[in-house]
Amino acid sequence: MIDPHIHYRLRAGLPAGTAAPELPDEPNPVVILVADKDTAVVQSDSGARFPTLGAFPTGPAARIIERCAPWHQIASWQGRPVLALAVESDDLDQMAEAADLKREDFRSLHLNISEVELGLLGRAIQIVDWYATSRFCPACGAPTAVPEGESVARCPACAHDQYPRLAPAMIVAVVREGKLLLARAPRFKGAFHSVLAGFVEPGESVEECVRREVFEEAGLLVKNIRYFGSQSWPFPHSLMLGYTAEWDAGELRIDEEELEHADWYGADELPPVPSELSISGRLISWFRETHG
Ligand SMILES: [Zn+2]
Repeated sequence: MIDPHIHYRLRAGLPAGTAAPELPDEPNPVVILVADKDTAVVQSDSGARFPTLGAFPTGPAARIIERCAPWHQIASWQGRPVLALAVESDDLDQMAEAADLKREDFRSLHLNISEVELGLLGRAIQIVDWYATSRFCPACGAPTAVPEGESVARCPACAHDQYPRLAPAMIVAVVREGKLLLARAPRFKGAFHSVLAGFVEPGESVEECVRREVFEEAGLLVKNIRYFGSQSWPFPHSLMLGYTAEWDAGELRIDEEELEHADWYGADELPPVPSELSISGRLISWFRETHG
């Protein structure tokens, strides 16, 4: 089986008063604690592991675990169930202290944890957010219920389904005569330049989105659009689809509402760019390797 194996099960909490929180008949679960939508706890020494339930055997942290319900079983990984728990921010501080864990947010963890762990954490954040925001039907207002084994909040009155949301977005490296198009947007934190990106509109293919966004933001037509790779990004629920493309026609004319600056850069003259942890950084590395 693929590891981690992604699946979903809504589970009741542990019985109150459980001194050693081992679940009966299954390995000690990995626990991903989520507070304020983007905060988790990892063990402080490695900076790279989620705790297991056994890290909270007694005391205040165990009591917090006991009242955390429902639990979201989001995957199986290395032979253990992976449970996501939504906790209050204060509770998270208490749990971190009790189990000698370090509290960190998703963005800072980016540097320290594996892609598998990052994926599980992103899934935990999004599943917890989906559950918290789908308790009532948006069509008729009735309370929803989650069917066994499915990540869907179903309305018993009108059958409306709310799945966890995913918003596809494209990100594209456009190359013209050995130079890469890079732009700086006001929304970027820091002074770096990156490749163009934008959300896919309803009714649009991703390739159509690539053509539209590049034309809208930079006034250019592109050709030879090719899939590069993808990355999940849980803020709030993006799926970044990476592409490469070649300039076809038009001169650079930026949309000043979207971009502050854009230009063509050779592989040996790149401005500060995002790290390779992001798909934008990986696209720029691809350019450096193929056009350097
Ligand atoms: Zn309904």
